[in-house]
Amino acid sequence: MAYASVEQRTARPSSGILAGSVLSEHWYSNRLEIGQFLWKALSSRYNPLLAQMVITRRCNLSCGYCNEYDDFSPPVPFHLLQQRVRALASLNTAAVTCTGGEPLMNPHLNDTIRLIREQGMIATMITNGYRLNQRRIENLNTCGLQEMQISIDNLEPDEVSQKSLRAVEGKLVLLARYAKFKVSVNSVLGVSEERTEDAYEVALTAKRLGLLHTVGVLHDDAGAIKPLSAKQFDVYKRITDLSHSITHRLNYHLFQKNLMHGHPNRWKCRAGARYLYICEHGKVHWCSQRRGYPGTPLLSYRREDIMREFDTQKGCAHHCTLSCVHQMSALDRWRKQGTADPGMGAPRKAFN
Ligand code: SF4
Ligand code: SF4
Repeated sequence: MAYASVEQRTARPSSGILAGSVLSEHWYSNRLEIGQFLWKALSSRYNPLLAQMVITRRCNLSCGYCNEYDDFSPPVPFHLLQQRVRALASLNTAAVTCTGGEPLMNPHLNDTIRLIREQGMIATMITNGYRLNQRRIENLNTCGLQEMQISIDNLEPDEVSQKSLRAVEGKLVLLARYAKFKVSVNSVLGVSEERTEDAYEVALTAKRLGLLHTVGVLHDDAGAIKPLSAKQFDVYKRITDLSHSITHRLNYHLFQKNLMHGHPNRWKCRAGARYLYICEHGKVHWCSQRRGYPGTPLLSYRREDIMREFDTQKGCAHHCTLSCVHQMSALDRWRKQGTADPGMGAPRKAFN
């Protein structure tokens, strides 16, 4: 059986991070959260809107395309997570997403979520769902989790992805029954041509259970995708027709429309400023696919670092599919960005 290309098999779906879409429609139902988010967003361009924090690199699965996990790392100790959450709060961060690896493998997940809320930030998480049960869902309710995203790549597990509907459908039923937080099921196009129709089945199941649903596209190591096939286009359209999701429409107009046709996007990536990726070692990176830039410890990350990264053009931006970074950068589309990124190839001219 043919699967995704070699490049496609080295990274996880963009929306997995997404995973954590703070601009998703769920939030419009909570005026206080939206008010706090918008206040931070509008009071300074240098307030981070979303930090994705790896609380363990270890994962209980081993998806063939993923470059964001291992099978041996210990969980990040709670005293380090406390320091990092407080550091994010002191930077005026609006929302923190606990991610991995698989965050349910860190026994301090609940305490971390509680602390994020105590520090006045929005708390979300990304999971493959395998380790969920009624007790864990009720504990997450108690801790104040506000949104969970589960990515499902196919109907049956295979060597490309073990995130399959068959493995977690029972967990979705539990979530529909017990979760007081928002649950967003994300299906993905591009894992393989043969699995294209699976994404629609995942969307149908989410709708049947009353859960929210988004669709992402698989990116490669550079955060980019290849143009979608005719079959993938058809499924994409049927999924978006199914859900009428604000997130679908936002992603489509922000970046998916051009990329699906093989065209670049001219946008200003604000990674390192509006969006932060915090690795298990507590360093700030632009995103999961650009680890090492800038690679500064979070505890010594300052306003000047945010200002510099806000202004830095990323040479990888034109074909990027990382939806949460597109979303977090959208508010500042009109602001200039001038400093060339020396490590990724200098752009020809500054965007205005
Ligand atoms: S479940 Fe997620 S983190 Fe784990 S291997 Fe699969 S894509 Fe990677
Ligand atoms: S454009 Fe930004 S979000 Fe996308 S891969 Fe590059 S640094 Fe990451």
